[in-house]
Amino acid sequence: MAGPLARQDLAELERPELEEALAHLGSAPFHARQLYRWIHRRGVTDFGAMTDLSRDLRAALAARFTVSQPRVLHRDTSADGTTKSLLQLVDGAKIESVFIPDTPAMTFCISTQVGCAMRCGFCLTGKMGLVRNLTAGEIAGQVRLLAAERQMLDRRFNIVLMGMGEPLHNYDATMKALRMLADPMGLAVSPRRITLSTVGVLPALERLATEPLMPNLAVSLHATREDQRDLLVPLNRKYGLSELVEACRKFPLKRRSRITFEYVLLSGVNDTPEDARRLVKLLSGLKAKVNLLPLNEAAGIPFARPSDDRVSRFAEILADHHLTVSVRKSRGRDIRAACGQLIVEGARTSPAQAMAALMR
Ligand code: SF4
Repeated sequence: MAGPLARQDLAELERPELEEALAHLGSAPFHARQLYRWIHRRGVTDFGAMTDLSRDLRAALAARFTVSQPRVLHRDTSADGTTKSLLQLVDGAKIESVFIPDTPAMTFCISTQVGCAMRCGFCLTGKMGLVRNLTAGEIAGQVRLLAAERQMLDRRFNIVLMGMGEPLHNYDATMKALRMLADPMGLAVSPRRITLSTVGVLPALERLATEPLMPNLAVSLHATREDQRDLLVPLNRKYGLSELVEACRKFPLKRRSRITFEYVLLSGVNDTPEDARRLVKLLSGLKAKVNLLPLNEAAGIPFARPSDDRVSRFAEILADHHLTVSVRKSRGRDIRAACGQLIVEGARTSPAQAMAALMR
């Protein structure tokens, strides 16, 4: 628990909040802009290194504030360049973030929660349950850290909110992090380069539809029948498939943009030609593209990856019906690419024990 003398964490503040915090120090708004640039565009967290601020201001900042940053605990790099990082947060909680090169742009896949409450049947993170929400600073901090390490702070890249957690289940922190990342004084990431992936938390999806800062939307569908989705994505029992697709039809899309529907392919479960044809029918009339994700198998997941032939057949049926379809490449399979795998296997124990380790 923070004591009364705990220093405020500036990594948690949007620029207007930072201006307000500095105003209490009697500092001019342009100092807040300089500070925001140091933290978010240059990735500097040590006030002493912020050389265009006066010595007195740097000392005053160091006395009252801190700038937190996740710490890299472990890193695996795949032969294809995909790098998965296990990060530790200030309270010791652990999350995963992934850097994926050449997709065709560079992409950072970041987490929004420690664990996840959604408990999707094919996902190791879901097996942990929800440990806690990430703060806005922890969400944005993953991008800042990973981009700084690769000297990419001044380059264009994509961000996908597809790591651990359900972003719409941590709505306020996620949207605040996106505003921080999009700030022109910071990394200035265009919302067109950000994709938020959800299993369909409908009230939050409706709220997202009203946001001034609108990321691209990806919807994790994974099934074509209510009973099938009830099993794979338990949230479906609350917000069913037909309601979700209806909400997608109403979602305000910019000109030329489309909703990406993600569909994890599980051998013998949802990968039949009938499933593919039902998917075509379900998405009929929607501005949609489909991203097929052959399962990244992992110990503890009771499903198997379909054969390449079966994946191709599924994709062909969608393409034959004029749906734009992509199939995820087998990126990072040599580095335990399944979401949550680094943490669960890193613990060399059961998911329950891994979860207990996460909370330590
Ligand atoms: S697939 Fe996504 S929403 Fe489902 S349990 Fe895993 S992290 Fe959560």
